[in-house]
Formats: sequence, structure tokens, C-alpha cells
Amino acid sequence: MKINPVRLVDEFMRLVEMDSQTYHERPLADYVMERMRALKMFVLEDDAGEKIGGNSGNIYGLMRGDDSLPPLMFCAHLDTVEPSRGKRATLAPNGRIASAGDTVLGADDLTGVAVILEALTVLSESGLRHGPIEVLFTVAEEVYCKGSRVFDFSKVLSEQAYVLDLAGPVGTAAYAAPSIVTLTITVRGRAAHAGFEPQKGVHAIAAAADAISRLKLGFVDDETTVNIGLIEGGKATNIVPDVCVVRGEVRSLRHDKAMKRAQYIAGEFERAAKAIGAEAEADITIAATAYETPLDHPVVSRFERACRQVRLTPSLIKTFGGSDNNELALNNITGLVVACAMFRCHSTKEYTTVEELTRAAELTLALMTADA
Ligand SMILES: [Zn+2]
Repeated sequence: MKINPVRLVDEFMRLVEMDSQTYHERPLADYVMERMRALKMFVLEDDAGEKIGGNSGNIYGLMRGDDSLPPLMFCAHLDTVEPSRGKRATLAPNGRIASAGDTVLGADDLTGVAVILEALTVLSESGLRHGPIEVLFTVAEEVYCKGSRVFDFSKVLSEQAYVLDLAGPVGTAAYAAPSIVTLTITVRGRAAHAGFEPQKGVHAIAAAADAISRLKLGFVDDETTVNIGLIEGGKATNIVPDVCVVRGEVRSLRHDKAMKRAQYIAGEFERAAKAIGAEAEADITIAATAYETPLDHPVVSRFERACRQVRLTPSLIKTFGGSDNNELALNNITGLVVACAMFRCHSTKEYTTVEELTRAAELTLALMTADA
């Protein structure tokens, strides 16, 4: 039994036509539950929706298998970034699948969802031997993995996972990802009329600008980046601004480096504020925690074996993007983030191809059966 490319593409196009913006994954969640139940899988929805303010929980599915083989988890996220409402997929004669151009396609991460459903369908139709397979379809991944963060991992059987949520050619997998630490810094000065008595004001924007100008942005070393992404402050052109709020992030493949750099940045704002009689207060939040899966781990060797089985050359990389795999790692599940036929994600130019989508499904099926 093999992957059926026609069924797979149909499935993907159907998923694209369901709206599933972050916090609004309900229609897609209902659909994947129905699909898994039809495959006689045990299916559960958790209470993540209530916890994070969305209309759907994370969806968990279990396909029973040979208990003498290690259980494996396959994970993808249901939510898509904006603009995605009313998205439609168009299939060109050359096999390229794109949106109409005014929305994202949602290949991130509906290719992952489609590929997992197709591989499960082949398994249920065939006599192929496999171990227990757990599926986790998460919500709100695009907002720093809020869905998987509240999932209860205590009943999960698997100690190994494949997260299908990576751009790039199929055969690529990420074994390391960074900590992402976000900063919200509020600089408080004092307002004054800019014409009558500017000397009585304490210029919050000037203090923030001074601090930012001292920061090294971009790569600060080969495994750490810094960005200031948002700045807002001031009320009118004739008022010395009393408040300036600055938001940014630090990423590092080493958690301690990310934390140290975030604290250093907070300190720069405090110093710059103090120098002119203002105050700065920093709120530092850990949005993702770095992990590195050892390259000699069985989860890696199974991936390499499965790649060769479907004639792909495995390529193991470090990524600077976070994913649900960061949350799995925090819960002692060792995983890889696997490329699943998505290209130019988070843009209206996003696309996939029939060829790559089929390869991703073949690879997923090979992973599910590699231990048999
Ligand atoms: Zn994604």
C-alpha cells in the first residue's frame, strides 16, 4: 500500500478551504477529529480553547499498534497566520499549489496535517506493521506555541516525536532550535508643553532612542540574535512624551545566553533612562526554550533510515525558528522538526507542490513503519 497523491492533494485543498486562523481553529479541529475517528482511532480534545481564549482545544489521536515497537508521536499545528480568511488553493498544471494571491496558502502547517492524515489512512488500509502512533494537532502555535504549552503531556506514551512544521526541501529536519525571550520595556519620563516649558519635561522617547542606539542588533554572536521590533510613545507633536514602550526579542541556541542578553538589554534601558531622570521597567518573558536533540539519538537514526528508504538525502540542520518541538522537549519528548513541503511561509506567495507534498507523505509513512 502506498501514498495516494490524488487523495493527498484533495485532502490538502479541502483543509485550505477551512478557515483556521489562530484562536479560531474549530472547523478544522472538528474535521480532523472526524477523519481520525473514521480510521477507528481514539480521539480526544483538551481544554486548551478555554485556557487560552480560542474556540478549539488541542486534538489528540491514538492509533493502536504493535506494543513491542516504540510509540511515536506526530505533531502539526492547526492554526494559520493572517491574512488567511477565505483562502483558496489553486493547482497549476506544473503541480504548484498556491493561494489566489490575497491570502497565505496555509501550507504552514496544513501540509503537515494533510500528510499525517494521508499516512494514517494508508496504515489503516494496509497490513503494514507499526507501533502505537500518537497524533497531536495543536492550536495557537503561531503565537509562541500557546496551545501545546497548556497540553497535558502526562498521559502521552511516546518518548520520541516528529513535528511536521519546517520549510525547505523534504528530507531536511531541524535538531536544534533557540530559546526565544521577548522583552517589553516601558520608559517613563514626564510630560510638559514642548513650547512653553520643555525644560520641565523628561523625554521618554529620547531615553529609549539612546538605549536602542547602544544595542547591537541582528546577530550578536553566531548563535544569538537581537531585534527591537516595535516602538510606540508620545501623544502630540507639542508635548514632551512621558511614556515610550519598546518591544523586542532575543533568540539564542543557548538558553543562558538568551536570558543574559535580555537582562543586559533591560539594563541598557535602565541606564539610559536614569541618565535623564526617567525610569525604565522591563518585562522579560520566555516564549520558547532552546533544545538540541543528540545526533546519535534513535529519533535521528530512524529519520535517516526513513529518508533513505524513500530515496531522499537526509539533511540535519539547526533552525532559528521555534515550534511545538520546543514544548515537547520541555516535556521530555525528544524530537525533530521535519520539512513537510511548505515554501515562502507567512506570505501571500506561500506555496507547495504535488511532488514535494507526496514526498513528505511517503517520508511520514516510512517514519511510522521504520521500526517494523
Ligand atoms: Zn508552522
